[in-house]
Amino acid sequence: MNKTALKLLQQTFGYQSFRPYQAEIIDCLLQNQHVFVLMATGGGKSLCYQIPAILRDGVGIVISPLIALMQDQVNTLVQNGVKAAFLNSSLSGREAGRIQWQLQQQQLDLLYISPERLLMPRTLELLQTVPIALFAIDEAHCISQWGHDFRPEYRQLGCLQQNFPNVPRIALTATADDTTRRDIINYLQLQQAKQFISSFDRANIHYHIELKDNELQQLQHFIASQYPNDAGIVYCLSRKKVEKVAEFLQQNACNALPYHAGLTNQEREQAQAQFLNEEGVIIVATIAFGMGIDKPNVRFVAHLDLPKSIEAYYQETGRAGRDGLPASAWMVYGLQDVVMIRKMIQSSEGELPFKKIQQFKLEALLGFCETSSCRRIQLLNYFGEEKSQNCHHCDICESPLETWDATESAQKALSCVYRTNQRFGVNYLVDVLLGKDNAKIRRFRHQNLSTYGIGKDLSQYQWRSVFRQLIAQGFLNVDIDGHGALLLDESCRPILKGQQTLLLRKDTHTRKQQAQTTPQAKSFALAERNDEQEQLFFNLKAHRLKLAKEQRTPPYTIFHDATLLEMVKCCPQNLTELEKISGIGKQKLAAYGVEFLTILQQYPQLNAPHLLLGMKPRPKPTTSKFKSKPKRMTIRYP
Ligand code: ADP
Ligand code: ZN
Repeated sequence: MNKTALKLLQQTFGYQSFRPYQAEIIDCLLQNQHVFVLMATGGGKSLCYQIPAILRDGVGIVISPLIALMQDQVNTLVQNGVKAAFLNSSLSGREAGRIQWQLQQQQLDLLYISPERLLMPRTLELLQTVPIALFAIDEAHCISQWGHDFRPEYRQLGCLQQNFPNVPRIALTATADDTTRRDIINYLQLQQAKQFISSFDRANIHYHIELKDNELQQLQHFIASQYPNDAGIVYCLSRKKVEKVAEFLQQNACNALPYHAGLTNQEREQAQAQFLNEEGVIIVATIAFGMGIDKPNVRFVAHLDLPKSIEAYYQETGRAGRDGLPASAWMVYGLQDVVMIRKMIQSSEGELPFKKIQQFKLEALLGFCETSSCRRIQLLNYFGEEKSQNCHHCDICESPLETWDATESAQKALSCVYRTNQRFGVNYLVDVLLGKDNAKIRRFRHQNLSTYGIGKDLSQYQWRSVFRQLIAQGFLNVDIDGHGALLLDESCRPILKGQQTLLLRKDTHTRKQQAQTTPQAKSFALAERNDEQEQLFFNLKAHRLKLAKEQRTPPYTIFHDATLLEMVKCCPQNLTELEKISGIGKQKLAAYGVEFLTILQQYPQLNAPHLLLGMKPRPKPTTSKFKSKPKRMTIRYP
């Protein structure tokens, strides 16, 4: 391992050791090699180019798609004493002029730049006149139109090879199926690049999906019991719902803000700024929110409506827990969501490849919700990553779902659909099965049917569960033109004929289920802090917020939550002890050491210096891990 790089990591960034692949990637760049990096969010991609940019001669140019991202990264670097700046359209002519002057004077270690700005002939000419350490293409999936954030300008970055043939390039992304990856390599001419591909697993995220019952109360219970003071994102599909949910949370003592395309630019910017700069803000948003949000201490991402695919789910939930601390991906879904997806699947039927892909994706999403096995296994297998061991950190692993033989009930449900001529939706069918006496049933004379009242052995809740699962599994279709009438699918014939048995999951009533899982999740999320430690954490956060406000920078650029938590755990009482805390480099120690120490010294009884060295180093990856061939990531379409 390169000793200078390690020293820089420790002194400037305050981290004890490299994470998997970081040291190797840095070595490659120091040796002038091109690199391609696929690493899950929070894996530590930034240091992979920041450290070699500082160590090599010249300035490291980082191409980044979003202004907010650049600002964040630059703030963080400056806090660590690194000479970094950005060039984009948010700067005035004068500010941009000053940065260009710094560039020419070779005063910068890192310059963040938008692709548009970089590709201007003027900029390219300017860059020819100064030594360049490397080009880092961040969020490289923006190059592919298959990816979710296609940015046409990224395509033209191929010109870097022609214009700067001797400067090493590193492309980085957290999301890449095979096609996207091929695109990145082709467009950026990285055929010779060394590839580093790490697991998609976000081990610190707890996955939890439950059935919708009363979604607002479920959400409120989740937040109040697990993340009462934390920042989070709640996703809904419609603007109206966003407004409703935000209002509900506000009434329930949450600092929640709506965010959707119907607000003015100014309102949206304001909400985003509050989310970034204050503590414990919850954003309730349509999917319009999230891209470019690098806030590390988002503790939960909640979905009140289904995302549009598993990729979208992975990306959206991936915004939680970038700092590596425990975080939650929490979702509710119900019969209506399943009906809607089934409708979408049917309306996308066709032979065209993209229709098939769309259908496959929606089916996979339904399967993911309805699964009775470990969520993480499902998720990783979907991305082509083999994993077979239960994660013990998802709702299913924690309280395994039971199944029951539902063959006979399914037969009753399916015959009821048949006997009523495939013209009715779930609610009515359940009424018939339960033998309800109402005007509609009398009007259609369905009280005379053989299926009338044959389902009294199950409750209404259980029948809805049966129908939901029959629809999810494709035994029933939804009439796309009508009002949600259910139609028999050819595939249900063997069940009706008694040639196939059907196991369905036993849905427990959601609130009961929640009560069971909460204590476990809670002890994990809140760690075990006693009251005094909680108070200390609160005081440290308050001081961080004060500093952040004075400097007009987000609190996490001063210290991460992880750093504050380590302070709480070890409660250093002098600068030598404080310096050992992960995330405190030289610059931060000099700038903030004394003031944070003053707070810590009010709690001498919490001092535990023996924990300091014990917890700092992360386990060093074994060399064999690096030498193993990178695993192929493929999304398997039919
Ligand atoms: P990514 O870009 O892959 O999502 P980041 O580069 O933002 O991840 O890093 C995620 C977090 O991990 C950051 O807070 C970063 O400071 C921290 N980090 C990165 N490398 C290390 C390391 N070697 N030791 C400790 N923390 C690290
Ligand atoms: Zn699991």
